[in-house]
Amino acid sequence: MSSSKPEPSADFIRNIIAEDLKTNKNDGRVVTRFPPEPNGYLHIGHAKAICINFGIASENKGGVCHLRLDDTNPSKEDTEYIDSIKSDIKWLGFDWGKHLYYASDYFEKLYEYAVQLIKNGNAYVCDLNADEIREYRGTLTEPGKNSPYRDRSVKENLDLFERMRKGEFEDGTHVLRAKIDMASPNLTMRDPTLYRIRHESHHRTGDKWCIYPMYDFAHCLSDSIEGITHSICTLEFENNRPLYDWILDQLNVKCHPQQIEFARLNLTHTILSKRKLLELVENKHVTGWNDPRMPTLSGLRRRGYTPEAIRNFCERIGVAKSNSVVDIALLEYCLREYLNLRAQRVMAVLRPLKIIIDNYPEGKTEELDAQNNPEDPTMGSRKISFSRVLYIEQDDFCENPPKNYFRLAPGREVRLKHAYYIKCEKVVKNDKTGEILEVHCTYDPETRGGGSKDGRKVKGTLHWVSEQHSIKAEVRLYDYLFKDTSFNPNSLEKLTSCRVESVLKNALPEKQYQFLRHGYFCADSVDSSKDNLVFNRTVSLRDTWAKIKSK
Ligand code: ATP
Ligand code: MG
Repeated sequence: MSSSKPEPSADFIRNIIAEDLKTNKNDGRVVTRFPPEPNGYLHIGHAKAICINFGIASENKGGVCHLRLDDTNPSKEDTEYIDSIKSDIKWLGFDWGKHLYYASDYFEKLYEYAVQLIKNGNAYVCDLNADEIREYRGTLTEPGKNSPYRDRSVKENLDLFERMRKGEFEDGTHVLRAKIDMASPNLTMRDPTLYRIRHESHHRTGDKWCIYPMYDFAHCLSDSIEGITHSICTLEFENNRPLYDWILDQLNVKCHPQQIEFARLNLTHTILSKRKLLELVENKHVTGWNDPRMPTLSGLRRRGYTPEAIRNFCERIGVAKSNSVVDIALLEYCLREYLNLRAQRVMAVLRPLKIIIDNYPEGKTEELDAQNNPEDPTMGSRKISFSRVLYIEQDDFCENPPKNYFRLAPGREVRLKHAYYIKCEKVVKNDKTGEILEVHCTYDPETRGGGSKDGRKVKGTLHWVSEQHSIKAEVRLYDYLFKDTSFNPNSLEKLTSCRVESVLKNALPEKQYQFLRHGYFCADSVDSSKDNLVFNRTVSLRDTWAKIKSK
């Protein structure tokens, strides 16, 4: 491990692994896995699991983390999802090397294991339908009832299971079940289903199979086949751990990984469930999985989030065993912290108001110096052009200013950032509508660079662009997808007549800028082009997390 990388603080999982290494359990190997089901795009919750699993592997000498596509459910899975999963993990900064696996590659082995369970008297073919199975299962307070098929002979079970595989039966008519205990206080242990019939094509195995293993059966055995040492998963699998261990114990496998559960990430103002995210996509509430409002990694990336900020967030939230909800402000804080030091500052006027400097010569242009990032002088400076016709924000001018309004108003003087003091002399309006068309000002040539020689102070500093030297752009402002817990129909605001500094002409997606006083922005990777610039606001400058912290 490189010495510049900060040591992640120890958590209960890392402590377990450190202890195992001390006692030379697993011959000192550390093998973890990240096992997404390819039925959707990865979200920020998955990033937490990725950082834990790949992180732990990288911190330990010889440690390995497998990427396993848990593709045992033929109907909901798609190669589009597999491609997105791979590219998102790489983008986040992790590498599975040669350890890319598919649970479907184990179908034959899993079948053999199932046959073994039958032979040992640990599994049986059951003809109850789904409703009956549910009814027989009992409840948390009442024990279940044995299935009438529970005591079939090994011979009959073997014959039926083989015929299930051959496709002799309809979907839902038979299942293979583990024979455990219908009175177990843990409902997961009441003869769980191991295989079901599904006459459906699988994206990798085609029509070879019409029976598919259930998660609980496939998962522990996939872990075992791959020689996983620590199978790290989220808390909702705690009740499944006895089944995980039971299956591996009955089959007497060589490798019996340890399942360890941690609390899943929940975030305010969004949802982290692929099923619900898919609903947003299908119902066209968003433009796709990579809509910049989505909590998916591809959405966050398009929005302008950086992998470093997401990894830093995952480190800060830590790994614990009790469920909690993390304030999304923390994620934004991590992003600002990263971008503040790195993003080039530029000026962009989102809702332009025309300013004419009456005492500035027509046709003249001046090049003024502007630092690219005051936090980092090594980022250098650039020239910005000043001329007679400029734009400022509409809300930086007020004809009848309320108390404490320090921006431009009739008779008042303000500073234009990097440029001059200007004073408002006259307002030109549309006679009929009263709409302000342009504001006439004078400038003080003695204030070049933004300071006065006579020590005269102004309270407001405004950003601006020169009409002639700026370019048009569309800017998209985002709000949370969910407010309180209900869907927010106004989460996107498109501003189509923005004017931005000309350096943005070559803005590439994934290069972040700070638009002075507005926040951090990047070009949209899907809709932006040289002739039609589109910027996403990644995050505003307002820092609610700092406020939460200081309280
Ligand atoms: P979802 O509920 O979004 O469908 P899932 O758990 O069904 O998520 P999987 O593809 O099975 O999605 O997840 C792969 C891995 O990511 C699992 O090990 C799972 O525990 C982990 N994971 C999923 N969601 C979160 C989350 N919110 N926080 C932490 N880890 C998560
Ligand atoms: Mg799942």
